[in-house]
Amino acid sequence: MNPELFLDLRGIRKEFGSFTALHGIDLGIRKGEFVCFLGPSGCGKTTLLRIIAGLETQTAGEIWQGGRDISLLPPAQRDYGIVFQSYALFPNLSVADNVAYGLVNRKTPKAEIKQRVTELVKLVGLPGSESKYPSQLSGGQQQRIALARALATRPGLLLLDEPLSALDALERVRLRSEIRALQQTLGVTTIMVTHDQEEALSVADRIVVMNHGVIEQVGTPMDIYREPASPFVADFVGKVNVLPVQVAGGHIHVGSLRIPCTGDDRQARIYLRPEDVLARPIADGDAHVFDASIEKIDFLGSYCHVHVASPALDTNKLTVYLSLNFLSEQALAVGSPLKLRLVPERIKVF
Ligand code: ATP
Repeated sequence: MNPELFLDLRGIRKEFGSFTALHGIDLGIRKGEFVCFLGPSGCGKTTLLRIIAGLETQTAGEIWQGGRDISLLPPAQRDYGIVFQSYALFPNLSVADNVAYGLVNRKTPKAEIKQRVTELVKLVGLPGSESKYPSQLSGGQQQRIALARALATRPGLLLLDEPLSALDALERVRLRSEIRALQQTLGVTTIMVTHDQEEALSVADRIVVMNHGVIEQVGTPMDIYREPASPFVADFVGKVNVLPVQVAGGHIHVGSLRIPCTGDDRQARIYLRPEDVLARPIADGDAHVFDASIEKIDFLGSYCHVHVASPALDTNKLTVYLSLNFLSEQALAVGSPLKLRLVPERIKVF
């Protein structure tokens, strides 16, 4: 057991019949961290969360929490609160009784329960809602109450299983920042499962990117976005342009451009974020500049996703982000030529 770790997963393997959902997961989480499990549908993120909660039993491996081996403990003997995707409040119980549920089970004195419930509904932004019933609340309000219920017993660990995915776009963004603020106030170690990369990037201290039952990469949002460890991560997190290239003689050859690069000669692909293809400032004599023409403009408000073709790069589909101001200053429209510049240090070669 590494004493710095609050939660230590060692070699967690899960088989469902002949199907292996998790192939030996090793992961350490520090006290107070907000960690997101991120990955496509079926990658095993929910299964891993359910194993931590004791709602599913691992086929092999150990789980340590707060220095205690909890691998085989039933859920009630573990120390966590959980929020599910579907609000999962008891419909026949009032808000107060829902929030009090875990405290009643622990035979907490009535006066203390009342005080704690008042405190919790206030904490999640719904003061005075104690006597309401779940059916009288919006989806977002129900999730706030589910959060209050999960936190009632002051658990060491908060588990969130896609808590925002049933909400509309505005409410998702609002509640995710509330969850993050609450987590920072309370300092509770938190794991959130999500398939939404923007959600993970915006709230997590660290992201665990999963695919096919293995961890592809663990890192801060910035690491994951800027230094993806694999093509899968580069592709799954954020938008990326992928171009086939030739690496030869210490250079990447992409169309007619040559960009310095280390490594053996090989066929490869470069991964290039749209924001790393620049339209300005471009001065005479700048390197890695190429001609392109605009094929399509997706207007998204202040920024536009602009699809360009460039014979110089041997591509007819490169996406760049240009501001509306730039497009109008330069009088750019579909069919317009423009000069673009690659930022060599931002190119990932796989
Ligand atoms: P999603 O976002 O769709 O829930 P996920 O990454 O959370 O995806 P899991 O729910 O963990 O994925 O499932 C991982 C894999 O294990 C999937 O292929 C799923 O079909 C399989 N699986 C999960 N639970 C069971 C089960 N009880 N019996 C058989 N297979 C299961």
